[in-house]
Amino acid sequence: MSSARFGCVNGRAILVADSLDKYIDIERFSGGKLTSEPMACIERWSDVCSLAASLASAKATDFVPLDFDKLDCPVPRPRQIFAVGVNYKAHAAEMNHGLPKEPLVFTKFQSSLNRPYGQIKLVGEKCDFEAELVAIVGKDGRNISPADAWSHLAGLCVGQDFSDRELQYANTPPQFSLGKSREGFAAIGPYITDTATLSSRGNLEMTCRVSGEVMQHTQTDDMIFEIPDIIAYLSGICELFAGDVIYTGTPSGVGAGRTPQRFLRRGDIIETTIENLGTLRNTCI
Ligand code: ZN
Repeated sequence: MSSARFGCVNGRAILVADSLDKYIDIERFSGGKLTSEPMACIERWSDVCSLAASLASAKATDFVPLDFDKLDCPVPRPRQIFAVGVNYKAHAAEMNHGLPKEPLVFTKFQSSLNRPYGQIKLVGEKCDFEAELVAIVGKDGRNISPADAWSHLAGLCVGQDFSDRELQYANTPPQFSLGKSREGFAAIGPYITDTATLSSRGNLEMTCRVSGEVMQHTQTDDMIFEIPDIIAYLSGICELFAGDVIYTGTPSGVGAGRTPQRFLRRGDIIETTIENLGTLRNTCI
């Protein structure tokens, strides 16, 4: 069974075909039963997935060719964006952090969201890349148990947690949220893949290339806190809402942790790929 892939083009909610080279417009294909508004669609995730299951019966004329450069952020207005720091053991070591006893959580602000193939405006000399698996909440809730966590998620996508290390470490102790919220520093996508039908959701291969060179490569089951633990922890403190975005941490290999350090330069192309979830492609300007 194939998985639903939910995206956004020209501000309208779409479903990407299995061939990945074309899409349908959700409002038109559903005959108006679902809206074109992406956030409202995520709140009706089971209806979106039912519609995706009927794609096989779509006529050729229902489809539009997909140009990845034109994809918008699939979750344009999340109420909350959480991010987990230091969630892979090897990354904790390269950044000289101890292992956290509880998830170390910060926020990225909504105004930093970028398109899946969007540009990154570098500021200063120490902008860095962080490949991350990102979970999208599909159902509101508080005090969600780890056993129920997957049923509260809409899906998974690829994320880049771009980080201005100068700003992050300007003071002691460091702060995270602003250094990770410059314009375009939150890239997610290219589309959300439904987790209910994704058998490999607990362990996916993730790779980040900068201008063709592999910088990060991991399996996501190396996380310290796995997705059900993160959902249970966060929802014990904050109510989670459909459309919330949760970055789950980056593995080792970031620019700041390398010898010599390797920060982003104008013209660099960052390609972040997760098995079965697609690729983000961001260009530094
Ligand atoms: Zn991060």
